[in-house]
Amino acid sequence: MTAPRLAAVALPVPLFTTFTYAVPPALAARVVPGARVVVPLRGGREVGIVTALDATLPEGVAAKPIADAPDAEPALTPSLLELARWIAERYATPVGLVLRAMLPTALAQASRAAPAGRETAVVAIARAFPTLMERDAFFKRSPAQRGLYESLEGMGGHAALTHLTGQLGIARTVITALEKRGAVRITRHASMRDPFAVRDRARGGDDGGADGAARLVPTDAQRAAVNALVASEPGEIALLHGITGSGKTLVYIELLRHVLEVQGKGAIVLVPEIALTPQTVDRFRAAFGDKVAVLHSALSDGERLDAWRALRRGERRIAVGARSAVFAPIADLGAVIVDEEHEASYKQGEAPRYHARDVAIARGRHEGAVVVLGSATPSLETWRAAQEGRARLLTLPMRAGAGALPRVEVVNLAAPHAPTVDPVRVALSEPLERAIGDTLARGEQVILLLNRRGFASFVQCPACGWVAECPNCSISLTAHKAPARWVCHYCQHQEAPAEACPRCATPVLQMRGLGTQQVERLVGERFPRATVARMDVDTTSGKWAHVEILDRVGRGEVDILLGTQMIAKGLDFPNVTLVGVIDADVGINLPDFRSSERTFQLLAQVAGRAGRGAKVGRVIIQTRAPDHHAVRCAMTHDYASFVRQELAARTSPAYPPEVQLANVLLSGEGQDDVARAAQQAADWLARLLATKKVAGLALVGPAPCPIERVEGRWRWHLLVKATDAPALTRVGRYFAERFKPDAAGVRVTWDRDPVSLL
Ligand code: ADP
Ligand code: ZN
Ligand code: ZN
Repeated sequence: MTAPRLAAVALPVPLFTTFTYAVPPALAARVVPGARVVVPLRGGREVGIVTALDATLPEGVAAKPIADAPDAEPALTPSLLELARWIAERYATPVGLVLRAMLPTALAQASRAAPAGRETAVVAIARAFPTLMERDAFFKRSPAQRGLYESLEGMGGHAALTHLTGQLGIARTVITALEKRGAVRITRHASMRDPFAVRDRARGGDDGGADGAARLVPTDAQRAAVNALVASEPGEIALLHGITGSGKTLVYIELLRHVLEVQGKGAIVLVPEIALTPQTVDRFRAAFGDKVAVLHSALSDGERLDAWRALRRGERRIAVGARSAVFAPIADLGAVIVDEEHEASYKQGEAPRYHARDVAIARGRHEGAVVVLGSATPSLETWRAAQEGRARLLTLPMRAGAGALPRVEVVNLAAPHAPTVDPVRVALSEPLERAIGDTLARGEQVILLLNRRGFASFVQCPACGWVAECPNCSISLTAHKAPARWVCHYCQHQEAPAEACPRCATPVLQMRGLGTQQVERLVGERFPRATVARMDVDTTSGKWAHVEILDRVGRGEVDILLGTQMIAKGLDFPNVTLVGVIDADVGINLPDFRSSERTFQLLAQVAGRAGRGAKVGRVIIQTRAPDHHAVRCAMTHDYASFVRQELAARTSPAYPPEVQLANVLLSGEGQDDVARAAQQAADWLARLLATKKVAGLALVGPAPCPIERVEGRWRWHLLVKATDAPALTRVGRYFAERFKPDAAGVRVTWDRDPVSLL
């Protein structure tokens, strides 16, 4: 046998090509498909992945030699390579980008990765500044030190030294200077870096695992679901449709027990956002302890690498994580669980624009693992799959513990009210306010949902109607308090609030549209003795901020938890007996085909947070659209009726799951350029369909996007609707590889299976 002389290498460059390199004989043993190699590219070095050997070279081209092959074992298994090809095809994206997304950052960079599990230096805040004045005085002449200090605050008070000097680019001298002044401390930790160990310490270990999910006796429905899953064929897909509080987690745990102990295989558990679901993660840790690796977004690159290696070596058998954990390097994969499978966060918003649920299904099929899609409010796509027999439907129709589904009442805000100037009344109707008072009086807890952060959603001049808008986006600015700022939620542009209307000089501007900050204040005024915790993007920038707030709620230190959709997911607090939705209509009328589905899911999920213990729960939804089917079906806990109506609505005009969809987005700084490029793309695609006689595809548009401008870029789009999915894949690939708009600077994006059309 002679050693192959050439290797095809996919590189993380956005080109639809693999590069061919010569294999030096000394490296031949390590240069195998799936192996990482270091190769020369454009005067520098890049890490690539070998996709094939014995590639042929175009005539007259000399292949440069591979410089290094750093790993004894290939980084990616053959099945992950195959999965990468599938993703590249389906989402019309270069395979090199997919392969990079599959690897931990530390392995995808040419510079030497941080060695795993040695001593790490940690920089921690050592001094607090109780007032802004003290802080200003301390940092007066040292903005760089302030930047460092505030970055640390943002990360929960501490960070690895290498993270600060590496990713954040903070000079070592700044850190040393601040240490000398006593505001930070540098300590060294010998580590297997496991941030959940930090969490266990922070919780004092008192109630870690004490909830005893591992020791519960399954109900009949849970047992039936577990039995069906255990008996399923390799690669089979199951939809676990269990109402809120029906005990889906226990079904996952029992299945995993079988996979690990009987089959001797490993598993992946996907959760939408790990920071928001510490309770779920705790239950897996309580049941499986050290066999679990938690892939948290707050991991440093080194920590992520440690976890990845532990999984690759089989030291840990279960990967729990968000979207990208679907790529966890588990060798013998027995099961992939996608919890809350309807969540939009499973779709990646940048290339490769994969949907982790669909990747999970593909991976399960390739590797013969059972795939469980769990939800109380399944996506319409998954529901359709169950109806058509592509997924097996398993149902948990009752709450598992003592609880029953809560009663849901609707307060119609559009009904004629006595005219009121009471600002509290705008946020809290009489029934909701009374219910909060009663709940607090009984010593029980309240969850209030308002899916809009900030103080007021826009600022308007009462005289001329002027609205403060972002200079970069076609979006109104949101007013924030403490500190008072106008903020764009799309591009993060901020400005100081204007004193008067810039158009007509009217001195008083009106705050319109409630945000969470305002509700927090109003609730505080009305219930001064209650402890209110607010949970939204603005209060959770720190590494463990989510967990800290939720732990306080769990310990009963918080009476009212107020927040955006963050608080609607997975929370299980038996003493929460009232859920109030301040304004159900946020998002209901967005020009997006999924707005009703989203609204229903949000309402049904947040309603499901009430009455999960023995005490009866109650839900009050305030709305101006009490007859909307999303509101009505959430009120009666009637998923079946909701999907029936919503599926009917998706037939004309046709939207998923009736058709498959690609959203072709064009954006650029020149308004006319973008419009022209959009037309050019539409013409190009129309010609392609005609000349290649592609059936089963229809083009809609082009048209400006509902949000016409974001971050200074104008946006147009067109939709490709397909009844023939493979044809959509082929056309997408062809388009992504070949279409180039005439105008320079116009960016073209092919977004297959989009979760938002805004
Ligand atoms: P879901 O994810 O379906 O909303 P969870 O898995 O969070 O529900 O379970 C809801 C609650 O029911 C949890 O507090 C859990 O401990 C409890 N529970 C689950 N299964 C059982 C069981 N078989 N017996 C008693 N309590 C259970
Ligand atoms: Zn004005
Ligand atoms: Zn903006």
